[in-house]
Amino acid sequence: MKRRDFNQLLSKGLIGSGLIGPIAFAKTGSATGLEKKLGIALVGLGSYSTYQLAPALMDTEHCYLAGIVTGTKEKEKIWKEKYSIPERNIYNYENFDTIADNDDIDIVYVVLPNSMHSDFSIRAAKAGKHVICEKPMAVSVAECDAIIDACEKAKVKLSVGYRMQSDPYTNEVKKHIREKTFGEPLFVSSDAGYISRGNPNQWRLNQDLSGGGALVNMGVYSIQTSIYGTGSNPISVSAQEFSTRPEYFKDTDETITAQFEFPNGAAGHMFTSHNANGNRLKVHCSDGWFELDPAHSYGPISGRTSKGNVISFPHRSQQALQMDDFAKHILTGSTNVAPGAMGKRDMIIVEAIYKSIKKDGAKQILDLGTMGIVT
Ligand code: NAD
Repeated sequence: MKRRDFNQLLSKGLIGSGLIGPIAFAKTGSATGLEKKLGIALVGLGSYSTYQLAPALMDTEHCYLAGIVTGTKEKEKIWKEKYSIPERNIYNYENFDTIADNDDIDIVYVVLPNSMHSDFSIRAAKAGKHVICEKPMAVSVAECDAIIDACEKAKVKLSVGYRMQSDPYTNEVKKHIREKTFGEPLFVSSDAGYISRGNPNQWRLNQDLSGGGALVNMGVYSIQTSIYGTGSNPISVSAQEFSTRPEYFKDTDETITAQFEFPNGAAGHMFTSHNANGNRLKVHCSDGWFELDPAHSYGPISGRTSKGNVISFPHRSQQALQMDDFAKHILTGSTNVAPGAMGKRDMIIVEAIYKSIKKDGAKQILDLGTMGIVT
């Protein structure tokens, strides 16, 4: 049986009802909270939904692609046929709110340009659906707060599309820090960038739609790895902006570097760009170092340490792991590895970086201690 068909039988309760055999049922376990598979509706069928999320949903164990929300009529037919999506689970941006009446949809996954994240996440929460909001969570801290509030009021769960938080390499980094395998972290360096050569009118280069350039797109990865690479939230940041193609990057930042100060006195350096490649995390500790290179891409990630070890795990779709982690969180109360507070924490740092740049690199004090999010 194809996984997709299995998913659909599960969602309809046919497997649990004994209408198909015991081997398939055994696969789901019993009384673990994981008998039900959660239906996900993807909102926005652009490149990330098309080439990463939908294929990953063919490989998830605890959730499946149940519906779509699109503003493009032609995509409805293509997706309906390709993924066997019933007509009743296909929405557009206007009738989206009626998703509240659809029991097939448990989770709404917002995969739209950044400035649309808060609106659709809040509408999803008001419709009583759990929410996954792509990164960056929103275009301001105020919008992150509005999403968190809406989800709390509606008593639905919220997570940010931080796929790296479900990757085994990330857990290995966290383990080295937790267990002090190489001693105390003293310097972390993280790069995340690529060269943008596409249409200059794309939404990522339009401030109103993106809320920022390289920093909000790729820089959030460097912020994240700097934090789990030291196991601490930074206590201050200073930042600089660079530009080599102002005619292309008219509206948004091209390249940004920032320096972090951590509570133990450790230093951090991050680099992010839409005009230079970077994809690396290196952590120097008191008794050695470890690094991931590549560190932030869809994988396989690759790592090594000062002890001569290679850090290596079998490759799995990060997106499948991420969506399964969130489904398990909803079904069993397991840890939410990328909660809304984490997306908000990162947006506080993003805003501080932009503020520092405006003030010629002046150090911005960060007060993240009370947020309870340190990885
Ligand atoms: P994309 O341009 O390929 O797709 C955007 C989608 O939004 C399209 O379906 C488009 O039709 C729709 N849309 C609706 N209103 C629009 C408007 N006014 N302007 C432009 N498009 C509009 O973008 P993408 O790469 O799929 O990115 C979507 C979101 O996913 C972004 O928030 C991005 O940061 C995030 N993303 C995350 C990852 C990751 O690794 N977690 C990777 C890629 C993208």
